Amino acid sequence: NKQVIFGDYITGFPKESDLKLTTATTKLKLPEGSTGLLVKNLYLSCDPYMRSRMTKHDRPTYVQSFTPGSPVTGLGVAKVLESGDTKFKPGDLVWGHTGWEEYSVITTESLIKIHHTDVPLSYYTGLLGMPGMTAYAGFYEICSPKKGETVYISAASGAVGQLVGQFAKLTGCYVVGSAGSTEKVDLLKNKFGFDEAFNYKDEPDLDAALRRYFPDGIDIYFENVGGKMLDAVLPNMRLKGRIAVCGMISQYNLERPEGIHNLMSLIVKQVRMEGFLVFSYYHLYGKFLETVLPYIKEGKITYVEDVVEDLENAPAALIGLFSGRNVGKQVIVVSRE
Ligand code: NDP
Repeated sequence: NKQVIFGDYITGFPKESDLKLTTATTKLKLPEGSTGLLVKNLYLSCDPYMRSRMTKHDRPTYVQSFTPGSPVTGLGVAKVLESGDTKFKPGDLVWGHTGWEEYSVITTESLIKIHHTDVPLSYYTGLLGMPGMTAYAGFYEICSPKKGETVYISAASGAVGQLVGQFAKLTGCYVVGSAGSTEKVDLLKNKFGFDEAFNYKDEPDLDAALRRYFPDGIDIYFENVGGKMLDAVLPNMRLKGRIAVCGMISQYNLERPEGIHNLMSLIVKQVRMEGFLVFSYYHLYGKFLETVLPYIKEGKITYVEDVVEDLENAPAALIGLFSGRNVGKQVIVVSRE
């Protein structure tokens, strides 16, 4: 059983060497009387929140830290081999919490059974999984979007952002995204149908860039980045604008988060800024699938994945999220069947 083991808690930027590949020789079995599952892992998801799990927190937070010396855990797609839970049977496909290893013994609480297999299974790590739900809940539930409004999305080509942009276009909004390379900007405009896109690394003055793309201001900001980006957005918000605070990836590796200077704009422009966690919206998963599956089949939504093969490449893939190496949703293939 090949495994990716978490070394020890870190500060600052994660490195590949914080995660180590090993092979456990003992054959994994479902313990006698277990109510869990023995699964074969197929696709694993690399997600920015996993950085927080590499830190030892001195106060409770919404995710548990990894255990040093144990396999990394995260979201993934797996096939049931043995079941101690009557709701699951061998051969079932599931997505939810599993281990960064070939085979895992897992509990069933977080698992969702996969019924629609006429789409790529890897989509359940992204488009049809947690990031997809994040885009859906964040955009429709938090942003209260209306046709004709102006929408700005940072980290727009990633797992969540690319979908928010497409939902916004389907709603009839004017949509601008930013990302960190020419290739990503090209995807935003030519693949996902954003009205405009720019490379934030080429913009020494973010405020000037936002004024250029939003001469009349921003109605909705979908926040994935934080820091200087948020500070530049705030004075560009329109009256009664909404900011969905989804993530602040630019801050995750800093020992002290950067200060935000322009919060007064929230008052002046009467902006609603609201943080959210996708976990509170899983009750909408059925409705989400009913909305998104037809969009996929009708070609109204497209999704770009950055697929790396094998657990050997998993540490680099996870770390790459923090330098923008991934183009689209970062997925690791452990096995295709
Ligand atoms: P992505 O697929 O977008 O990957 C991360 C991207 O972030 C990178 O490719 C890079 O793109 C960008 N990035 C990395 N470091 C920086 C930086 N210092 N400054 C600016 N951009 C940076 O990730 P996801 O779509 O999975 O996640 C997007 C955001 O949503 C994250 O903040 C994440 O934590 C959050 N999230 C929140 C959830 C919730 O429940 N609230 C659930 C899921 C995700 P680029 O090349 O464009 O810089």
